[in-house]
Amino acid sequence: MDFSLSTEEQATRDWVRTFVQREILPLEPAALRRERNHQPGLTRDEYRGLVDKARQSGFFGVQTPTEYGGMGLSAVMAALIEAELGRSFLPFRFGGYADNILFHANDEQKQQYLLPTIEGDRISCFAITEPGAGSDATAIRTTARKDGSDWIINGEKTFITGGNEADFTMVFAITDADKGVNGGVTCFLADREMGWKSEYIDTMGEWGPAALIFDEVRVPERNVLGELGQGFALAMQWIGRGRYLLPARALGACERLVELAMAHARNRVTFGEPIANRQAIQWMIADSAVEIEALRWLVLSAAWQVDRGLDSRQAQSMAKLFGGVKANEIVDRMLQIHGGMGYTRELPLERWYRELRLLRIYEGTDEIQRRTIARNLLKGYSSVRGALG
Ligand SMILES: Cc1cc2nc3c(=O)[nH]c(=O)nc-3n(C[C@H](O)[C@H](O)[C@H](O)COP(=O)(O)OP(=O)(O)OC[C@H]3O[C@@H](n4cnc5c(N)ncnc54)[C@H](O)[C@@H]3O)c2cc1C
Repeated sequence: MDFSLSTEEQATRDWVRTFVQREILPLEPAALRRERNHQPGLTRDEYRGLVDKARQSGFFGVQTPTEYGGMGLSAVMAALIEAELGRSFLPFRFGGYADNILFHANDEQKQQYLLPTIEGDRISCFAITEPGAGSDATAIRTTARKDGSDWIINGEKTFITGGNEADFTMVFAITDADKGVNGGVTCFLADREMGWKSEYIDTMGEWGPAALIFDEVRVPERNVLGELGQGFALAMQWIGRGRYLLPARALGACERLVELAMAHARNRVTFGEPIANRQAIQWMIADSAVEIEALRWLVLSAAWQVDRGLDSRQAQSMAKLFGGVKANEIVDRMLQIHGGMGYTRELPLERWYRELRLLRIYEGTDEIQRRTIARNLLKGYSSVRGALG
């Protein structure tokens, strides 16, 4: 068994590591100050500048297929990159990205939606959750009724990431109530100009998702994404598009948090000695390091299974669950090591503490991951012996 990285993987990972070190981390102090004044941490110009700088070095569209101008990198590579980016709390991602399901667009839709999204000229959002349908997405109530060659959409979506900024949404609506999720849900590409409204939702994080209101929104037939009635499968494909990437990001955050806490523990003297000499502190560091190592291999194993075309759903759910739970425990411990300073907004600890909490909720809560994992085992779809059998 070979756990080493290829030369290419190492070179790419190191390039991103240097980029984060040189270009992103220096922006953090000013970002923290801005966030304390309730402004976005990264300005639009800074964000754009980072995207452009990376693109000049050929870093664009990490997983976007090369035929669309991307790098078409493997899942393992994507996980390694995400972990490096996760070392900063700044919400940066390389440009050249589009939601996986947009690649199901027909030629006309590709010109209007997919290509401009990859270029960063248009912003999309994915809208399935509703006030009455979160974990149970089969309970959606938003409807689309046919009117001539158009569809009229009515309903409300909630907690939509990017919903305030997006100029179009991939919205899921019931087109055949009798069939429901078995052939009766359709995905529509709906431009903001078609009439949907968004309302900002304040959260404990530094950014907020949106509620999207559809009141008799008229969408032309040509804006159906994929097949009529096959939207639910698309939604599941979007949700499953890279569950290993969220914990990969958390992995990078945890590494940095432990490094910050170790630096603090070496310097902070109480009762005549650095707190790093105390077993209580050492155990927090040791437990966190073990969990980080376990998380690293859960993430990389899930990504490896994706690259080999194996059924990686169990591995991805495990990585997502473990990542969410452990990242929250680790940030809590590292904040504790910082004492009162950890609780202030001078340092990024409390910010990460708030941000990482979301990982246990979105794209499948802890409970839903456990439900999936247990079901797969009990129904015999996977084994406790894991992918190696
Ligand atoms: C910041 C943020 C961004 C988001 N971005 C998007 C987005 O871009 N697009 C989108 O469509 N959605 C988005 N969501 C929605 C997100 O996916 C849902 O919030 C999530 O799936 C949980 O649904 P819910 O909030 O309705 O909770 P519920 O489903 O009501 O669950 C409430 C609690 O019950 C538990 N529970 C539910 N069912 C079971 C069960 N069968 N067994 C045991 N426990 C159960 C849950 O785990 C949870 O603890 C976002 C949410 C947030 C907070």
